[in-house]
Amino acid sequence: MKILMASSEVAPFAKVGGLADMVSGLSKSLKKSGHDVRIIMPYYKDIHLDKKKLKTVLTPMGVHMGGGAEEWCAVHVFFLEGDPSVQVYFIEHHYYFNRSGIYFDRWGEFGDNAKRFAFFCLAVCQFCRDLPFKPDVIHCHDWPTSLIPAYLKLWYPFDPILGRCASVLTIHNIGYPGTFPKDFWTYLGLPAHSFCEAQFESWNQISFLKGGIYYADKLTTVSPFHAMEVRTPEGGKGLAPYLNRRGSDLFGILNGADYDIWNPETDPFLPANYSEKDLTGKASCKKELQKRFGLEINPDRPIFGVIARLTFQKGLDLLMQIVHSLFSEMLLQIIVLGDGESYLVSGIHYFTRIYPGRFGSYIGYNEELSHLIEAGSDFFLMPSLYEPCGLNQFYSLRYGTLPVVRATGGLVDTVGNYDEATGGGTGFIFHEPSPRALYYTIGWAVSTWYDRPKHIHKMISRAMKKRFDWERSSKEYTLLYEAAVRRK
Ligand code: ADP
Repeated sequence: MKILMASSEVAPFAKVGGLADMVSGLSKSLKKSGHDVRIIMPYYKDIHLDKKKLKTVLTPMGVHMGGGAEEWCAVHVFFLEGDPSVQVYFIEHHYYFNRSGIYFDRWGEFGDNAKRFAFFCLAVCQFCRDLPFKPDVIHCHDWPTSLIPAYLKLWYPFDPILGRCASVLTIHNIGYPGTFPKDFWTYLGLPAHSFCEAQFESWNQISFLKGGIYYADKLTTVSPFHAMEVRTPEGGKGLAPYLNRRGSDLFGILNGADYDIWNPETDPFLPANYSEKDLTGKASCKKELQKRFGLEINPDRPIFGVIARLTFQKGLDLLMQIVHSLFSEMLLQIIVLGDGESYLVSGIHYFTRIYPGRFGSYIGYNEELSHLIEAGSDFFLMPSLYEPCGLNQFYSLRYGTLPVVRATGGLVDTVGNYDEATGGGTGFIFHEPSPRALYYTIGWAVSTWYDRPKHIHKMISRAMKKRFDWERSSKEYTLLYEAAVRRK
């Protein structure tokens, strides 16, 4: 099949969250299984490519927006390294993309995001008409590309290429629907009848994601459990009724992990490598981790690691409320790596100061430390309020670091709860999003660590054998693309 991935983020070129990793991981895997996959994305200012390897394939390309507006851009092609490599097309538009940041800069969100990404969506359609690559499917990701399905159906239903092209929309984070004032409507160039409650209108504003949900041939979320959650009032963030209307076209396909990068046997960031057969290297990583964070160097203290964007979604408010009780009742250590909301950053600084030797932290983004924390910790905390898929639990399992998670989204699909009778499971799960539930579950993990070490060893070995690779996901996506094409 000919597949075009249209995305505002692609690793390693431009990344804000897990979306970027998914687009490149899935594309490489689809390409490996014989499909002709290409990626298309905006050419942001912060993308620095080797100019010698960047080839211009079309300049200028005219894109006709609504209200008679005409935009001019250039299309360049580059190769995403890997085995096999994937062609990536970059849309260069000086005014919209030649600025620092993808959606925002240090002064906040860009005021013209609706125009920037509406332009990108129409530029993707124009690209398919002007260049020889004619996709069978365009796979769109989140609100920035969710106008593409609408343009295909409303602008190009009789176009010889685009009229036959199917669309799939993956919702990575339903908490970001791309909602904008209705003043932008004219520029989008969509017919007036589509600005209605069933399609694009949301409380008298334009919701890009809502329109995409209406027009895409197939819809996915990044884990099966989350596909059910988004159909509920709590999990749908206002979009549940519209997702329920498309219920028969909505699927959950679990993301994969990149085990070339996240492999404790070969990880170059670790002071010692290890495998499930020989865990001595993990003990060295733990010692190094305790040293790096100024914790008491003691192999007999369980370490709970956290790596996350410090936002409300990740449930760290729950942890902040129980740190005093945890340290007064239990013998454990906690390490946090992350950056984000200032109230969480202040809380973390405070605990680091008052619990030296027991609470360690690093505020900022640090790739090397993230690998060391995954390897050196004994447990990994993910008390997320919602988690469409999550990546860290994949890595934690592979590194033999048992996840302690809330039962939400992809965490339900990937972590098996501990069974005290048999020693079964790969982690510890709690349901209620409350500090109390988190406190008791951490307590459960700590008591298992001290009282039932044989169970812990069994769980570690079981966790390290688990694999969630892209090959499985790409097979499921292939079936979905085929179903979407059949509908045309
Ligand atoms: P989300 O996309 O919601 O941020 P995911 O778990 O899907 O959450 O992906 C986040 C990725 O970013 C993970 O691989 C995580 O390890 C990494 N990450 C998050 N914060 C940091 C940080 N401060 N330093 C290093 N890596 C981080």
